[in-house]
Amino acid sequence: MIKEISIKTSKDYFDSLRNRNLIVYYFGEQIDEPIDHPIIRPSVNAVAKTYDLAIENPEIASVISPFTNKRINRFLHIAQSPEDVVMQNKMQRRLGQLTGTCFQRCVGMDALNSLFSVTYEMDEKYNGSYHKKFKEFVVMVQNGGFVIGGAMTDVKGDRSLAPHQQNDPDLYVHISKRTNKGVYISGAKAHQTGCLNSHWMIVMRTIRLGEKDIDYAIVGAIPTDAKGITYIYGRQSCDTRSLDEGDIDVGNAQYAGQEAMVIFDNVFIPNERIFMNGEYDFAAMLVERFTCYHRRSYVCKSGVGDVLIGAAAAAAEYNGVEKASHIKDKLTEMTHLNETIYATGIASSYQSHETASGAYICDDMLANVCKHHVTKFTYEIGRLAHDIAGGLVATLPSQKDFDHPKIGILLKKYLKGRKEIPTENRVRILRLIENMTLGRNAVGYLTESMHGAGSPQAQRIQIAREMQVEFKKALAIELSGIKNNNSEKLTNKITDYFARVFSPPES
Ligand SMILES: Cc1cc2nc3c(=O)[nH]c(=O)nc-3n(C[C@H](O)[C@H](O)[C@H](O)COP(=O)(O)OP(=O)(O)OC[C@H]3O[C@@H](n4cnc5c(N)ncnc54)[C@H](O)[C@@H]3O)c2cc1C
Repeated sequence: MIKEISIKTSKDYFDSLRNRNLIVYYFGEQIDEPIDHPIIRPSVNAVAKTYDLAIENPEIASVISPFTNKRINRFLHIAQSPEDVVMQNKMQRRLGQLTGTCFQRCVGMDALNSLFSVTYEMDEKYNGSYHKKFKEFVVMVQNGGFVIGGAMTDVKGDRSLAPHQQNDPDLYVHISKRTNKGVYISGAKAHQTGCLNSHWMIVMRTIRLGEKDIDYAIVGAIPTDAKGITYIYGRQSCDTRSLDEGDIDVGNAQYAGQEAMVIFDNVFIPNERIFMNGEYDFAAMLVERFTCYHRRSYVCKSGVGDVLIGAAAAAAEYNGVEKASHIKDKLTEMTHLNETIYATGIASSYQSHETASGAYICDDMLANVCKHHVTKFTYEIGRLAHDIAGGLVATLPSQKDFDHPKIGILLKKYLKGRKEIPTENRVRILRLIENMTLGRNAVGYLTESMHGAGSPQAQRIQIAREMQVEFKKALAIELSGIKNNNSEKLTNKITDYFARVFSPPES
């Protein structure tokens, strides 16, 4: 069970992960202490960096909680102003730069913020007590300094069917039993980022629900070591390189992401930790609020992109081609794409507005545009990194060959680039590019960019919903001189999005 602790430093954090008796499977075996597993450890280090940054740079990664008046990690803060939302993005970019991977805490931050406003509005409609209970949960995790996982994505079975229509009811997490003390849930969540590295998991809904899905309308917080949970660790490309003796072939020996499948077999959620129970009409609002925050959280990839651009620039320099105009142009293009990701995310945050609960939320249109860029631009940045790196990024011999007394000498001779650069430096940079685009951290930089917070079509649907094409048509009709009485009325119909575009920034 969760201990009564207050985690402040990375050491506190490492200690907090021990002796939890999680049931974790990896390579067909049960693992005793995940934190000590050499493949898992780099993902723990990435989360630990979020604690280090809060100490090294409190301005960026910590904040005073309005509920406790104590300094807390920014990942646990409920945004009280547009500035708070903007600062989340700045922290995310910095952590991307420092780790070169997914540091796993954004999903929890975005779950906390979205549920804060959704529970408030649910209570307004149904006169319930979810918001009070949720606030108590927030205060508890802020005091404890805990890591929160956001468990949204169900395994989903046949995507064309609603949860209640599935052949097997467990393909979406649902209530399996109700008692007067709480509910039991069964089912599975896929791709759960940082779940073993979290202390609490907030189970949420994946999609909008209808009346017949009422047993699926359950949201609640569960300690990650609760009885009935089994974790099956996801394989990442080249993950076993973390078992290698040396630290070169792995590319980034310190940091990695983490994803696992989480299976719930009648897991208990007590009443005080239930934040939705049957209000299926609020499932869509929760999904939309969560994805609104989470899609602009993908500015983290611009921090990771900074590392990849730096690696490509170093590779060019070590090859002696850094002055070539096409190389400079490719680095400029990578930077343009990377800053476009950041620009749309941070703009979404600057255009935050207050919800009825008092928490601030970013602009949905720009959040979706940000995430949609991320689904493409990271791949293009990776492609350009491969172009600049040359074929060695995928054909280098192993560190053992470089260390071999006979062939090592040959490799160092024949894989020399610029004379003043040791061959090992060249190899290390190429391995880092490989790690970020083909290896362990490509999961975070590429696949997560594609599917995390929803696959590309999910953003296009949201952009299409909010694009106000009738308003735009009316603007054109009016200016073109076409006589149309209706268009004049429509041109003045400023929507939420444009209202934010035209109003002065909130402070
Ligand atoms: C690295 C990584 C980390 C992640 N971390 C988390 C996490 O921490 N927490 C969490 O909850 N989730 C997480 N996710 C899950 C992520 O949100 C999902 O991957 C995403 O929502 C897509 O779901 P899926 O993977 O099941 O793909 P699918 O839903 O199978 O999508 C595959 C394709 O099918 C299309 N499709 C799906 N359904 C339909 C339909 N009904 N009609 C038409 N087309 C459809 C999609 O648009 C897409 O093109 C993570 C994913 C990744 C890859």
